[in-house]
Amino acid sequence: MTRILVVEDEPGIALGLEDDLKMEGYEVEVAGDGVTASRRAREAGFDLILLDVMLPGKDGFEVCRELRRAGLRTPILMLTAKAQEAEKVMGFELGADDYVTKPFGTRELRARIKALLRRAAGERETERYAFGEVEVDFTRGELRRNG
Ligand code: CA
Repeated sequence: MTRILVVEDEPGIALGLEDDLKMEGYEVEVAGDGVTASRRAREAGFDLILLDVMLPGKDGFEVCRELRRAGLRTPILMLTAKAQEAEKVMGFELGADDYVTKPFGTRELRARIKALLRRAAGERETERYAFGEVEVDFTRGELRRNG
């Protein structure tokens, strides 16, 4: 099952996202602050991270930077409150894959999530190499034995 980490501190929005994504068939975990988000993203193998910018503890930019520095390549979709170009550019520079501006429509969000998951799946195909018995999945940073 495709797993999504929703990082959002506003309970109403977090719940709405959780319900909507579960209806779409995704497995969803919610983190309400940047510190928890950063930890969970590295502990558990998510397929996508929905990351709000304005968060208590650490903001979304900081979380994004941390995860990329740690080598995590999970697709990150940032939720930005303001349609400010500087904010979007900064997100991309820190390693985010896409963004949606709040308030967002659920249909747009769903479409962007699907597009990112498709892209990531395509990249995994080309980035998984097998060395004899050992397979390296660079996307997830995994090393495992074949068969
Ligand atoms: Ca927020």
